[in-house]
Amino acid sequence: MNLVLMGLPGAGKGTQAEKIVEAYGIPHISTGDMFRAAMKDETELGLQAKSFMDKGELVPDEVTIGIVRERLGQKDCEDGFLLDGFPRTVAQAEALEQILADLNKKMDYVINIQVDQSILMERLTGRRICKSCGATYHLVFNPPAKSGVCDRCGGELYQRADDTPETVQNRLDVNAKQTQPLLDFYSEKGYLKNINGQQHIDQVFVNVDQLLKGLK
Ligand SMILES: [Zn+2]
Repeated sequence: MNLVLMGLPGAGKGTQAEKIVEAYGIPHISTGDMFRAAMKDETELGLQAKSFMDKGELVPDEVTIGIVRERLGQKDCEDGFLLDGFPRTVAQAEALEQILADLNKKMDYVINIQVDQSILMERLTGRRICKSCGATYHLVFNPPAKSGVCDRCGGELYQRADDTPETVQNRLDVNAKQTQPLLDFYSEKGYLKNINGQQHIDQVFVNVDQLLKGLK
């Protein structure tokens, strides 16, 4: 069960990843975790990645791809994996095809959790945080009893600068623009499976599960 998980910020990718891992016992491999593990183990590639990050530079593709190659070759990936956050570009996707071929594996599905941008805007701009105790709320999904006031401590609720409509819209635009060529690439390969992410979390997983059951 070799999978890539895709979706814009707010689409619910993290939640679905947890559910897939729990149901199918395959490792959830996020780019951040992979980098952290490689640096912690001080592998040659991990140290190379660290040297770029310490300088505040982007880790070059060849290093990232090398780390992915090492990770997917590990024993816990024998029965499958769920990649999250990689690939980000068509060049990386092509490299991944090569890695899988070298490891005698093949991609099964690229699962794309689809949610309209207007709904993502609502999800991502609704967050409010308590100034005093840090409790988080959501205007739509988890509203405080009294508008603008923390249920827990009576503190004042505020919106993080990252969550303002302008910032969120920009983040979504940049992400959507970067993702489209990848979706096109995987669609042409026949791997792409779009899942309606505008349903209840549990129903989204029912759809994912129906898809994955076919692989067992
Ligand atoms: Zn509070």
